[in-house]
Amino acid sequence: MKDHLIETSGCIKCGACINECPVIATEGVQRFSGPRNLGVDAPRFLPDIGATVDNIMMCTTCWRCEEVCPANLPVPEAILHVRRQIFSAPNMLHGHRRIAENIDKYRRSVEPRNTHDQVSPRGKGEVMYFPGCIGKERIPSIYESSVGVLGKVGTDLWIPEGWVCCGAPLEKIGDWDRLRMLREENMTRFEGRGEIVTSCPGCTSHLIAHYNLEPLHTLEFLYEDIGMSRLRFKPNERTIRVALHHPCHLVRTIGPHVIDYAYSILNEIPGVKLVEMEDPGACCGGGGGVVAGYPDIALNLATEKMRKAREVGAELLLAPCPFCVLNLGRLDSLEIMEFISFVNERLE
Ligand code: SF4
Ligand code: SF4
Repeated sequence: MKDHLIETSGCIKCGACINECPVIATEGVQRFSGPRNLGVDAPRFLPDIGATVDNIMMCTTCWRCEEVCPANLPVPEAILHVRRQIFSAPNMLHGHRRIAENIDKYRRSVEPRNTHDQVSPRGKGEVMYFPGCIGKERIPSIYESSVGVLGKVGTDLWIPEGWVCCGAPLEKIGDWDRLRMLREENMTRFEGRGEIVTSCPGCTSHLIAHYNLEPLHTLEFLYEDIGMSRLRFKPNERTIRVALHHPCHLVRTIGPHVIDYAYSILNEIPGVKLVEMEDPGACCGGGGGVVAGYPDIALNLATEKMRKAREVGAELLLAPCPFCVLNLGRLDSLEIMEFISFVNERLE
């Protein structure tokens, strides 16, 4: 589990991170002081930084600042480290307190709404599927489609009985005591695991970084382990103009190869006319605990994303991430769908 100081010395003050930060672009520096201030300057003043970082929870952890930093500084990780250092239960934002309360009550980051378990955890197949809180409890079609697709391609699947939230939302709000507790609970439930597959890039990257496991996102599993030749799609019913959102935690924490897999799959689906929106990797606002902490910022970023997709004539926006689908789905300006759910619809 990551538990170390984050080194961010060597900043050359080029400002590239500030220019690229999506929260600065929508909210301005008056509201959000940005990556250099929060990830490079603030950590030096720990533990006495107090109110100087009261906007630190506005960062969506999109990882864009690190991507463009010529000094390769791990700015988002440094911001998460500051969040952890200043975490204080009495001072939590209202939305973040709800996450912690949901964890205490339900062992999910959101209140459960879907009690239906499609796969019995009886026996243990060769692949362990980890559903994640949003896909299971908020957008059950993601859970059902993932299980459906994995079944259609012949995967012998099991879901760990009594699984709990992976802890990724707690890392984002700085609550490491609860994060450790969840990790311990899950690790006992994961016993007997073979390969691990998840639907959520946030779960995937969290299980890699904090559990020292090697899970695959469903896209990686389908492309690398199953192979394109085993994906057989229905003949074209109607041609549809589809845009693909590149989720931050998919392309910048798991890796850019995963979005290439998504394009390869889309290119094989009859009736899909791909349209490329401007900056498809721009953050939609769904991550970093911002939907819960500052829903107005998350909505501003989602609005911008939808505008770009509509601008190129998309009829459907696909996102291989439950958090992005949840946030973008708050707007009804364009149909939004999770990637594997679309694949499930189109598979024979
Ligand atoms: S991770 Fe994204 S939102 Fe956070 S400071 Fe960096 S660029 Fe801005
Ligand atoms: S991009 Fe990197 S080097 Fe440039 S100001 Fe930001 S943190 Fe400093």
